Amino acid sequence: MSISDWFFFVLTVLIGLASGSFANVCILRIPADLSIVFPASHCFSCGKALLYRDNIPLLSYVLLRAKCRWCAAPISPRYPLIEFLTCASFTGIYLKFGASLPILVYCLLALDLIIASGIDWDHLWIPRFLSTPGTVLGFVWATLVWFFEWPGEWIVSTPWDALLGAFVGGGVIYLVRLGANWYYNRYRNYSIYKENEEDRIETMGLGDVDLMLLIGMFIGWDLALLTIFLGSLFGSLFGLVTRFCGYKLIKIPFGPYLALGAYLCLLWGYDLIHWYFSGLFF
Ligand SMILES: [Zn+2]
Repeated sequence: MSISDWFFFVLTVLIGLASGSFANVCILRIPADLSIVFPASHCFSCGKALLYRDNIPLLSYVLLRAKCRWCAAPISPRYPLIEFLTCASFTGIYLKFGASLPILVYCLLALDLIIASGIDWDHLWIPRFLSTPGTVLGFVWATLVWFFEWPGEWIVSTPWDALLGAFVGGGVIYLVRLGANWYYNRYRNYSIYKENEEDRIETMGLGDVDLMLLIGMFIGWDLALLTIFLGSLFGSLFGLVTRFCGYKLIKIPFGPYLALGAYLCLLWGYDLIHWYFSGLFF
């Protein structure tokens, strides 16, 4: 790598860490309807504000030995974990796309997906303003890329590819949702099912449909289908593993697995498709 490659690499890592810190704030504060700027970060146990030097991503967690400086209340390992995940996902995008225009767009998409996943994980809910404005922006962006012929390894580079992606991604997940809800209420939910709408159980929310509209707009119809496949696979595997370990989860959020699938598709989706079909028709 040249000096400028290294410079952008380090820059991506640092921005990734800072964005991970921001993602933590969003995941905690958005569902609680709190401002994400004010007040400054504070300890949840004693309420004292954090010092600037206790606010450094990853490093502060280690230096403070996972405890609050003031009251020694334990700090959850999910903060450094999300900081690390965000940083790693940004770095992966940089290594794939290089210092070009697509990296900005795809890092923002990754950050949005991480925040949506965190909230879905905690609350089984994906706020609409994390998916819908991004979906509109995705369409506008694809139109700009197409019209001005912006350079870069764009996965979706025309407005119709973007629309088709959103249509297929959102449509397929909507059908999956209808099927899953029907099956669950028809065959699994005997005791509660009393022909009443309000007794029906939602196995999958509309938040997942909104999320797939967003994902499809950015990665196109073929990778959107692969995302749904991978997301279902990861979600089922996670369900099996937790059940095997003795946990009985009533509900598993789908958002984090769709997000993971979308990220893998962003980086290696076409490699995966080529590898699969070359093995099949060789
Ligand atoms: Zn404290």
